[in-house]
Amino acid sequence: MQDKNSPPVRFVQIEPLKKTVSDSVELPLPTLTEGQIFRMKTYIGFRKITGLFYNKHSWGATRRWLYSNFLPDKVLHRWKPYQRGGCNRCGLCCKIVFRCPFFYEKGETTACLIYTSEKHFPAACVAFPFDPYDLAEVQREVAPAPCPFHYEGQPEHPTTWAALKAELRAQWISGVNKLKEVFD
Ligand code: SF4
Ligand code: SF4
Repeated sequence: MQDKNSPPVRFVQIEPLKKTVSDSVELPLPTLTEGQIFRMKTYIGFRKITGLFYNKHSWGATRRWLYSNFLPDKVLHRWKPYQRGGCNRCGLCCKIVFRCPFFYEKGETTACLIYTSEKHFPAACVAFPFDPYDLAEVQREVAPAPCPFHYEGQPEHPTTWAALKAELRAQWISGVNKLKEVFD
């Protein structure tokens, strides 16, 4: 039972709940069928693509989707050791431009219905924020509300392009060394 004086318990971007967390909300959260998830993801894709024609956020969201799905982890997560702060579970980033159909809100509780799904997890949302540009993009959209992440320090290769070049170079050198070992 939650203390009356403590702040409300709010959930987003965390494991769907298996226990009761507030006075007013009965959990667990709704479960979705494969078909529902497919339809919701199709809707999101449609809104993101059409959004490219009339809002700036869809460009940031598309960058996030592309990077989180195609960049090597070493490049994508290079800023993580420098990341500070955390998510306050306000849920505002789930309602920019349109309300994400996976966003669940009841009373003081917010949640993502697929965040921890092994098969359907939203890679872009899980990776957020993966660099200062990504973070600034969402902070601009939810302002004046805060998104309390920030960075202290920076990796050896701050830009994605430089990090990708360094990774490709390292892979190339490693491949050449292996070939040398074979022929030595
Ligand atoms: S806007 Fe920031 S603080 Fe709010 S739910 Fe999204 S990541 Fe968390
Ligand atoms: S999938 Fe939707 S509800 Fe879940 S974290 Fe992403 S934007 Fe929020």
